[in-house]
Amino acid sequence: MNNNIRVRFAPSPTGHLHIGGLRTALFNYLFAKKNNGKLILRIDDTDIARSQKEYEDLIVSDIKWFDIKYDEFYRQSERKDIYEKYLKILKEKDYIYECFCTEEELLRAKELSINLKKPYIYNGRCLHLSGAEKESLRKKLAEAGLVPSIRLNMLKLGCEQVEFEDMVHGKVVFNVKLLGDFVLKTSDNRFTYNFASIVDDIDLGITHIIRGEDHISNTPRQILLCRALGAGSPMFAHISLLYGKDGKLMSKRDFNANLKHYKNEGYLPQAVLNYLAITGNTFVVNDERLSDEIFTSFDEMAHYFDIKRAKSSGAVFSEEKLKFVNEKWLQQLNTDDLIYAIKEKFILTDYINVSDINSINISSSINNTNTCIENNDTNLENNKNNKDTKSSNIDLENNKADLAIKKNNTNIKNINAEIFDVIDYAEKEYGKERLRCIIDFLKNEYKTVKEIILELDNVFLYKGKYNYFDKGIAELLFENLKETTGNEPETSEFNEILIKNAIQKISKENKKNIKDIYENLRMALTGKTNGPSILKIAVLLGKERVLSKLTI
Ligand code: GLU
Repeated sequence: MNNNIRVRFAPSPTGHLHIGGLRTALFNYLFAKKNNGKLILRIDDTDIARSQKEYEDLIVSDIKWFDIKYDEFYRQSERKDIYEKYLKILKEKDYIYECFCTEEELLRAKELSINLKKPYIYNGRCLHLSGAEKESLRKKLAEAGLVPSIRLNMLKLGCEQVEFEDMVHGKVVFNVKLLGDFVLKTSDNRFTYNFASIVDDIDLGITHIIRGEDHISNTPRQILLCRALGAGSPMFAHISLLYGKDGKLMSKRDFNANLKHYKNEGYLPQAVLNYLAITGNTFVVNDERLSDEIFTSFDEMAHYFDIKRAKSSGAVFSEEKLKFVNEKWLQQLNTDDLIYAIKEKFILTDYINVSDINSINISSSINNTNTCIENNDTNLENNKNNKDTKSSNIDLENNKADLAIKKNNTNIKNINAEIFDVIDYAEKEYGKERLRCIIDFLKNEYKTVKEIILELDNVFLYKGKYNYFDKGIAELLFENLKETTGNEPETSEFNEILIKNAIQKISKENKKNIKDIYENLRMALTGKTNGPSILKIAVLLGKERVLSKLTI
């Protein structure tokens, strides 16, 4: 094991971290973990015009949300002295020169290349200026508040081509002539990405640069800078970008490129990372237990991680596969850890936009939830009074439609409130032990935390009544279940067998179809016509709640 391995994740705070960026961070994290190395988080904020502290904060909080741990933190804007020091080394070696070209001149030259269908290469004009010419141009720039920019003198470096062994792509060769003398420091006194980035990599002792393959064209420039500075260059791994199912590159504009989407949809951070790690064949695991490539921890993921196995062709992102991975993670996660994750990751996190939640605080969110429930109750009461609730398919369909509208409204109104209070509220309602039983049940029935939260709210916390389509059956259920004793799950007489027996008895004595009885019970308890075991739900709700839902 080499404990000198140092990698870095270097986002620019010019926007949100997106799913591809998260994948790059993950690969760096796994690589460091596997090699007992260090992960450095470096904020590339040299572009002052586009960088924003707000984005930096969001990126850092996203990285934390996904439990990616870094060992050191740097901000390029705080390292200007270091860049000056390295620039001085290049000056002493005579590898750089001043460039007086204005932005307009450069733009014109670029346009000309486009028209001629030739790649733009800086013509090196300023390399041959006389002292007097330089002074006059310097004055002109100064009038505009600018200084000469600084370029690297490629001729001086004397290399014709740059060759490197990429850990993903294999041997890569670039013709130096096509690179041109590129800028290290701009006329508005800013260090460019290529210069600041490689200086940091040298200065911070980075051994491996793992990043998106959109940066591969920067690599020859950075390798040349390493040579010019007399430093060895790090190893490079340019990982494939993520593509949608339509074959198009996932861009920041795609809704599922935004990490907020995964938080809002209730994907566990570990599952998202597990999925990101296995897209693009980074794990080909020869281990039966891991045939589905679902890991149990970062350590295990890191153990099997091998960047050299990453496919160089694009990785195709599939949300269905992610959902499958999430489902597996929900099932394998210890229930207490899941409760903790729901509280920590999905309640009161900063991803909930303040404007979305209308500044609801915990107590008022509970009040809001109750208000919605009361309104819904009123609607249901009106429904019941205005309609003959005799068992009929028409009624069933109407009820379903009513419920669909009601549920949709409830969900829209309550979704943020649910995210806010659901675990604390449920713990107050059911106690710690029974809440654990409920979550244990739900985590094996649903695929996302969002589905669990909605089910918890709509079934276990909803205090209003759902409708049913046969009043007679509801009455019979009420009468028969009332006779039972106990109100605790499984440990008492209010258990699955007892409810099942009661249903059989009702069916036999009243000539009612068993299926109808189950359907009515389900409608009364969940407001739906299908879902997980209704006997289990009834037991978990407890006798008192079941009876109250069956009260006419
Ligand atoms: N700041 C660059 C970006 O966000 C990172 C480039 C690199 O890793 O060298 O794309």
